[in-house]
Amino acid sequence: MQAQFKIIDNVKFLNKLNKIANKARKYGYSVPEIVDSQELTNQTVIINDRKFVVNYTVYTIDYEIFSAGNCSLIAKFDHIENIIKTVPDQTLPEQYLHPTNQCDHCHINRQRNDTYLIRLSNGEYKQIGGNCLADYFNIDANVILSWCDLSFTLTDELTEEIEPKEFTNNGRYMFDLVETLKVTYYIIEKYGYISTKNAIEKNQTATKSRVLDYFLDKDSNWGVLNQYTTKAQIVKEYMLTLGEEKNEYLLTLYNLAVNNNCSFHSLGYAVSAIIAYNRHIEKNSQKESTQQTSKGYYGKVGEKFTAQNLLTVTVKSISKEIYTQYGVKCFYTLENKEGYVFKWYTDCDKLKINNTYTLTGTIKDHSQFNGEYYTELTNCRIK
Ligand SMILES: [Zn+2]
Repeated sequence: MQAQFKIIDNVKFLNKLNKIANKARKYGYSVPEIVDSQELTNQTVIINDRKFVVNYTVYTIDYEIFSAGNCSLIAKFDHIENIIKTVPDQTLPEQYLHPTNQCDHCHINRQRNDTYLIRLSNGEYKQIGGNCLADYFNIDANVILSWCDLSFTLTDELTEEIEPKEFTNNGRYMFDLVETLKVTYYIIEKYGYISTKNAIEKNQTATKSRVLDYFLDKDSNWGVLNQYTTKAQIVKEYMLTLGEEKNEYLLTLYNLAVNNNCSFHSLGYAVSAIIAYNRHIEKNSQKESTQQTSKGYYGKVGEKFTAQNLLTVTVKSISKEIYTQYGVKCFYTLENKEGYVFKWYTDCDKLKINNTYTLTGTIKDHSQFNGEYYTELTNCRIK
């Protein structure tokens, strides 16, 4: 398989890779090989609280899943933030979706920052602390650990060379989750969403890098972010519903929400939570529109709901955000007690999913979409 690494310090990286390759040769496992390298110039990165324009190289490396001495590496558990990283192409057994911080080998009870899941040749799984890995792989534990790091950098995207030093000096620097989501909303609205993978391929700036930039730039305007507070909280609430998921990505989002913060290492997950939430909403609204059996049109076009004759509806789905010159808008799908379905096009953040509201307003139109009947509303006010 192939992985890409962004490297500023070529010498350090090549030395590290060389060491791993030499050990791999010595112990007879697959030797990682550079298959492509591409130099990028004038890229903005932040180191030690300061922006630098640097040149770096993107290395594409061909390697195989680490396996030696009849053991295979399956996953790494980060116990500081409860992040599970499964080796690409491997499947995490369900009983390890909520790993405890223990070593099945030495059973010594101590605080571990991370543990590793391995599979023995007889199919048995073991969760092992870093110090005990060597007993299974029969080679130097440091070699295994550096190999693991190399393997997992696949999903980390950036290597430690680009991590601002102030974050590494004193443990992990933590960003508040809701603040991170607010910054991310602002950045996405301004620049669109660019995943780190796309950023490397198309030579653009990833959303995650811009978010990091925003945190570090002393001139960042924090007041402007207040408009995203509700949205950010909705995404956090969504993340908190994922505790029963069987998918380790979604579980990681859940754990970040429980922690209520994220570090440089998990920032990418936090940033992507907004995209995951949007996908979730989109899926739900598709489900709604195929499952709904609305009763037909309500009332007559032009008819008004007044203070004496209020409309009570529950929010069934919220469409994707629509960016307009008048601000961020969306369609709310609403349903009253009798099962009539209404649509209201208005500002995002106005209504929350599954909440019930009483409204005044006017029936704007009757429309049909995918075989469903919608009564469109306009000029509504929440009472
Ligand atoms: Zn141990």
